[in-house]
Amino acid sequence: MITTRFAPSPTGKLHLGHAYAAKVAYDLANKEESRFVVRFEDIDYTRVRPEFYQDILDDLAWLGLSWNGEPWKQQERLKHYEKALEQLKEMGVVYPCYCTRREVEEELTHLAQAPQGPEGPLYPGTCRGLKNPPRDREPAWRLDSKKAASLIGSLSFQDQIHGNIKVVPGLLGDVILARKDIGTSYHLAVVVDDAAQKITHVTRGEDLLPSTHIHRILQKLLGLPEPQYLHHELVTDQSGERLAKRNEAQAIASLRKKGLSAEEVKKMAHPDFYTPPHQSSP
Ligand code: GLU
Repeated sequence: MITTRFAPSPTGKLHLGHAYAAKVAYDLANKEESRFVVRFEDIDYTRVRPEFYQDILDDLAWLGLSWNGEPWKQQERLKHYEKALEQLKEMGVVYPCYCTRREVEEELTHLAQAPQGPEGPLYPGTCRGLKNPPRDREPAWRLDSKKAASLIGSLSFQDQIHGNIKVVPGLLGDVILARKDIGTSYHLAVVVDDAAQKITHVTRGEDLLPSTHIHRILQKLLGLPEPQYLHHELVTDQSGERLAKRNEAQAIASLRKKGLSAEEVKKMAHPDFYTPPHQSSP
């Protein structure tokens, strides 16, 4: 039995990129006894807008991408993420970090060779092994990627498009696993929920491929099952840019209003859609 999920953030309207992501997950689970579930990634309450929960579900239903069960909301599951964080604290694989974003940026400018990740410079480890933590600040919690690497040994994951990938524990450095303002993070919450919802196949955009290295480490540390992965291409616009939530023209609701059918919109929701014909491969 296959279980997949679509995990939108209710911070904007569903656009063609989301519709494609949802379709990939739906199609993979489109067999008897398989399940396709929806989970709202709404932990960052500063960016969530209440109207988008229903708007997203309305668009999914209109597209014919029907889901199983009640959609989950991560805001209702905070205690599960706290428990996982406690487990990691007990294992000594996370450490408190008191740096502000500005302090991290400052420190990076002073380093001759700042550690680099796929998306830019990485946290330089300022608070690792801190002897005298400041008393007047709440900390964030970061993964001690070196300590984690020493505990887990060699790990990999299987991706239906990219093949077998070896986990590089320091790829994203000592990432934040619990933000000081919200007590958790995308990485921690997604790993806990993929296990809780018994997701067998995690499908998502290839921009999140580096994050999967962190997720495999967390699964191993927390004793959670390993799902299969499928990181798909992203839908881009004419100039090759990712679709932005603020671009109304690519919102499913706008295309609906224009009179397009669900079938037409589903065809448009594809990475090749915007490629001009003379550039497409033969
Ligand atoms: N919320 C993420 C997105 O919309 C999906 C994260 C995931 O599937 O793990 O890209």
